[in-house]
Amino acid sequence: MEKPRRAVSVPRSYWVDDHLVAGAHPGALDGAEAEEKVRALVEAGLPQADDTGDRVLGCLLAGAIGDALGNPLEFETLETIRRLNPLPAPHLVTDDTQMTLFTAEGLIRAVDGDDRLTRVTDVLGHAYLRWLHTQGQPWSAIRSGSDPSTIPDEPDGWLVKERWLHHRRAPGNTCLCALMTGSFGTIEAPLNDSKGCGGVMRAAPAGFFADDVEHAFSIGAHTAAITHGHPSGYWSAGALAAMVHALLGGADLPVAVDAGRALTANAPKGAETADAIGMAVALAENGVPSSEDLESLGGGWVGEEALAIAVACALSADEIGDEAALTLAVTHSGDSDSTGSICGNLLGAIHGTGGLPATWVNSVEGGDTIRRLAADCATARIDGLDRSQPEVRTRYPTG
Ligand SMILES: [Mg+2]
Repeated sequence: MEKPRRAVSVPRSYWVDDHLVAGAHPGALDGAEAEEKVRALVEAGLPQADDTGDRVLGCLLAGAIGDALGNPLEFETLETIRRLNPLPAPHLVTDDTQMTLFTAEGLIRAVDGDDRLTRVTDVLGHAYLRWLHTQGQPWSAIRSGSDPSTIPDEPDGWLVKERWLHHRRAPGNTCLCALMTGSFGTIEAPLNDSKGCGGVMRAAPAGFFADDVEHAFSIGAHTAAITHGHPSGYWSAGALAAMVHALLGGADLPVAVDAGRALTANAPKGAETADAIGMAVALAENGVPSSEDLESLGGGWVGEEALAIAVACALSADEIGDEAALTLAVTHSGDSDSTGSICGNLLGAIHGTGGLPATWVNSVEGGDTIRRLAADCATARIDGLDRSQPEVRTRYPTG
């Protein structure tokens, strides 16, 4: 069978001759069954579900709601959070949502005239520099710290002009410091050894633009590696992007999770993230986890733990519903906004926001911006943006 086309030039050492090769973690794949599931998703190629637009919007909007739900809880203990019943309605988002939106915008800008993604690291790096500017860094300093020939005189595009994004909401130090170097990290040339969850918490849109789950895995990992150089910092992002891509195509969540885990298990030094996903699956298979169970997965401050907590909660949604699953995802002593954000990305890619209270959907910050960006993502993904229109070129300059 002919392989789906691939649009991004990325190393695929963990994918050789049309089949997965166990490398970094021999035995991590559960034999042929897991490989067959991933292969089936890969060979399905670019899914074209009728409700793709709803799922893309759901992924971004439910992610923002989970982020905002966890925002006041990020630095609170489980004991304190339990005294808040019910939790405050989600309102203000944090850096997780802000950076996720710049990932989406950057990926739209990376789509070339042939509807293919090009220069992902550079174009996404520039998107994150625009985010850095929203956090108070003068554009002149950003230009002088980078190659000025690649940076416009003023930050361009429409997203950076959205004033509500110019609030500092506890931005992660790793992202700030990495971007201030003016260089963009890659998997081959990492900038640091950080596995903070700042890579995975912004990676979901990488699942929108990929040709297949493996492609999504690669794009997600490369977007994270711009700032996070530890394998668990970027493979966790690849796994989330692969899961989102599979869900948009209509895969069940357990299959999507399995695909993310299998791809990670076969990536160099991916065992830590694959094992964390496996622990989340095992936890969810024993019934709806308690907050204490979630804390056994870690605090969520690092990539693989944040993804694991979010996956365990999302897998419980069939039994307890999206609202309760998202509430569970923020009810622990760890990084509640990031685990809520990632869990929301997953649930929204399955159900949109239909399973969440209308008051939550209506009260979350930035809803209009998120709806506009989601619609543009869906257009770019399905039909391609019409760059012959000056308005489109102004909103999404290339590069
Ligand atoms: Mg945050």
